[in-house]
Amino acid sequence: MNELIINLHMHTTYSDGSGTHADLGRAALKTGVDVLLVTDHNVLVQGVDSYYQDGKKRALLIACEEIHDQDRDPQKNHLLVFGADQELATFADSPQALISAAQRLGGLSFLAHPVDPAMPAFGETDISWVDWDATGYTGLELWNGFSELKTVAKGKWGAVAYAFFPETIPHGPLVKTMQIWDDLLAKGRRVVAIGGTDAHAQHKVMGPVHQTIFPYEYHFSTINTHTLTPTALTGELAQDRKMVFEALAAGHCFIGYDLPAPTRGFNFSAQGRDISGIMGDEISVQGTVTLQAKLPSRAEIKLIKDGKCLKSLLGDTITHIPDEPGAYRIEAYKHFLGKRRGWIFSNPIYIR
Ligand SMILES: [Zn+2]
Ligand SMILES: [Zn+2]
Repeated sequence: MNELIINLHMHTTYSDGSGTHADLGRAALKTGVDVLLVTDHNVLVQGVDSYYQDGKKRALLIACEEIHDQDRDPQKNHLLVFGADQELATFADSPQALISAAQRLGGLSFLAHPVDPAMPAFGETDISWVDWDATGYTGLELWNGFSELKTVAKGKWGAVAYAFFPETIPHGPLVKTMQIWDDLLAKGRRVVAIGGTDAHAQHKVMGPVHQTIFPYEYHFSTINTHTLTPTALTGELAQDRKMVFEALAAGHCFIGYDLPAPTRGFNFSAQGRDISGIMGDEISVQGTVTLQAKLPSRAEIKLIKDGKCLKSLLGDTITHIPDEPGAYRIEAYKHFLGKRRGWIFSNPIYIR
């Protein structure tokens, strides 16, 4: 299969980001990102879906939307909607109605930064997801670059230091978010995990310090969602959009933190005598099936079933023969800039 690197969840001047769609397109070409899913707050920007080209390099930008109820106090429940092709911000006051509307229109919905703590030094409040009774969403944003900053930066000057050394921020998805995901999976739910950067590239002035907080190019080389698709981008907009959204909906994807080492080439699959599957697929436990993950380079690898670690080793391959149903997934860690950091988080293979 073909692998497409998607950077998703970012903001432009249409909401609270500092760049234009063209700025994002250029940054994608520079960093080797194939697809951008741009999610301005409560506006589906029309007429900007297009390819950016530089020689043989091509990047596809698709406008999507991040929706929340702006009248709610306190602010909670941000939802990423991809591929609904219709303004849905009018449904914002009911997360369930919003999710159902996206579903009706053939769109995908992901709970944005499900756990998102406050950062008082910058006036940032806790905007976690709280409507956990909602159903019908495609998945959740397991790793959000901005939520993580809120947990690692201690106070105002700590945050300023991170603005100069942003590569020291990512350590992995928040533990609480991982637990929520594993709990949902253990209940038999299919929940696709994606990684988003929440890029704004905002200019901040703090006393003598003027800094663009995390330029788009920085974000595009950090937390990406890698999808497995039948082909490379074809250049046909409708066809490529459909291919990208189908791969995400099926969970044929993994989250890669691409700064320590490229995650391109990671693969987690199931192979039986008569059946085979990739991330997101459902496989029957009848008959022997072997799960195998191959990594592009050595790392600490963990095989996890319904939140419990079954195996852990150092290497570039891990295999397992499952003997009971469950959601099996892979995590990989590398040491980078003096710390152990999350590198790869796969979607599960569902053994039923
Ligand atoms: Zn948000
Ligand atoms: Zn956002």
